Amino acid sequence: MTETMTAVAKVRREPGYEVLQKEMPRPGPREVLLRVERAAVCGTDILLYKWDPLVHGLVASLPFIPGHECCGEVVAVGAEVENVPVGVRACAETHIACGQCYQCSHGMPHICRNLVLFGHQTDGCFAEYARVPAGSVYVLTRDLPPEVASLLEPFGVSLRGVEAAEVQGEDLLVYGCGPIGLGAVAAAKAAQARRVIATEVNPVRTELARRMGADLVFDPRETDVREAVLDATSRDGAGCVIEASGAAGAVAQCLACLRKGGRLVVLGNPKAPVKVTNVMRDFMHKEVTLKTLHGRRMYRTWRKAEALLAEGNVDIRPLITHTFPLSGIEQAMEAILTGRACKVELDPTATDTHSP
Ligand SMILES: [Zn+2]
Ligand SMILES: [Zn+2]
Repeated sequence: MTETMTAVAKVRREPGYEVLQKEMPRPGPREVLLRVERAAVCGTDILLYKWDPLVHGLVASLPFIPGHECCGEVVAVGAEVENVPVGVRACAETHIACGQCYQCSHGMPHICRNLVLFGHQTDGCFAEYARVPAGSVYVLTRDLPPEVASLLEPFGVSLRGVEAAEVQGEDLLVYGCGPIGLGAVAAAKAAQARRVIATEVNPVRTELARRMGADLVFDPRETDVREAVLDATSRDGAGCVIEASGAAGAVAQCLACLRKGGRLVVLGNPKAPVKVTNVMRDFMHKEVTLKTLHGRRMYRTWRKAEALLAEGNVDIRPLITHTFPLSGIEQAMEAILTGRACKVELDPTATDTHSP
């Protein structure tokens, strides 16, 4: 093992990331050290890069290493770690739970009251090695390739959304087809949704939505989505809707598209205060079931997501449009910010840009 490693770092409270040589991390007594095989870029990594006001409060201190979606090999463990052996492959669970609070003691550690986010308030995985608390590690049970295993974290969110929406035999609207929405389209098809209607504005993602199984895809800038959904559903509306865009006004749009008595699951982090526009028509008189989700069940969602991907029921690989070495972080951000990319991955074991 070398004494230093290459890492991407957020150094200043302004836009940008830097590629640095950092001291090799050593696991604390209850931590493991991952040799990162692959790390995926998430929406919050982009907000951190841009230094968007939405994420200023998420960061404990600078400098730190961003990145939270990853898989790798456990190469060292602390003295008190009993549940994770050296040599296994594992993913980091972004939600680090305290183990003591009401939620942690009632089977909901993923929404721990004292939640700490890996790669936000701790150093993350855009590096050759990453330290992860042993309680926040999912040990892989299947032989998933790195580019797929590193997407278990975001795909777990998609999968929980589909589970909560109860899609079997239903027409589902997926509002917004970034990686989370696209994962939901694919998981909904695997869960036997009747038809999947999707909305998206970016042409790369629109094409991917079709490829992942969407039956109809609308651009909300060109199409009145409510009218289109009503037309497609005998004027009933969609029995279930998954909001995955975070766009301002999206929740009101989703409620307007929902069938009376239907289920709305909100996955996208709203970029503006959430409002209901037509309160009686779209909310009170609909007897809406509304569910917000934050993260994955630890670790039931992981196990199910892993099985879906390992058994080929869902093929998530088309989402990966670009893979860069750590030194290519600027090109990675550029590919995303110009709208050419869907999911972008970093390969800390590579020095050259390559296709997934
Ligand atoms: Zn993420
Ligand atoms: Zn807790």
